[in-house]
Amino acid sequence: MRLKAQKEIFVKTLEHEYPAEEVLSFFFLLTEAFFGIKRIDLALDPELEINENQVKKIDSALVRLKKHEPVQHIMGETEFFGLSFKVDKNVLVPRPETEELVQWILDDFSLENKVLKILDIGAGSGCIAISLAKNLPVAKISAIDISKNALEIARINAENNKVQIQFFQQDILQTEKFSEAFDVIVSNPPYVRELEKKEMYRNVLDYDPPTALYVKDENPLIFYDKITKLAKSALKPGGKLYFEINQYLAKETEEMMKKNGFKTELRKDIFGNFRMLKGELR
Ligand code: GLN
Repeated sequence: MRLKAQKEIFVKTLEHEYPAEEVLSFFFLLTEAFFGIKRIDLALDPELEINENQVKKIDSALVRLKKHEPVQHIMGETEFFGLSFKVDKNVLVPRPETEELVQWILDDFSLENKVLKILDIGAGSGCIAISLAKNLPVAKISAIDISKNALEIARINAENNKVQIQFFQQDILQTEKFSEAFDVIVSNPPYVRELEKKEMYRNVLDYDPPTALYVKDENPLIFYDKITKLAKSALKPGGKLYFEINQYLAKETEEMMKKNGFKTELRKDIFGNFRMLKGELR
């Protein structure tokens, strides 16, 4: 079958489910992940043929996309900070906003020549810890997560990306203190409230792990509070705490950090939303 014909079926099947541009981008993400065929290859050879097995593979992806399963789950991997990460239902699909948080840490620390000790809290796929490890080769990085299944994926990702990270299964809310001191503590904890769910898409609502995303409306800063208090005694002098934050709670999150004695800085993401917060002990 011609790839072009398959593409037309694909677009037609999903036309009421997603914006047209997104459908096309799904199509080529899949052809590239499955068969190494890129958009340019079809442009250069409009008569390009795919075999029966390849047709079947695209058809089964189509069924899953119709149910709004994330394209990253269907590919089995995604890109973050130029690296490849295995993802499945056990980990939050890495988001582009989070790349900016990693970049902020690198901007602050890449010229540092001492051995940095870094802790990532709620590591998920490991995307933050692994991207930092890749770009700060002498850092000693630890990462914790409450989910055993997530840690399994994170360990595979560390191995695939050839970095050494110490992973621990740990519930941060039950943690009283850390036994070591760190130069950097970073976290992208759950921060989505019930009232924000109406803005979210089905691929997130139905497929991302709820433990990675949601907090109770009555106590949306529960993780930020706890981590800030732990960081107060676990950060080395000059150490810094970095958070990805809920844009609607930026001021409250910043205030909470200030009350705990931190000097703070808020930053917007590429979409113009307050998404990152840094704290330094005064
Ligand atoms: N930014 C993510 C989303 O909108 C939420 C990430 C989180 O809760 N830490 O789906």
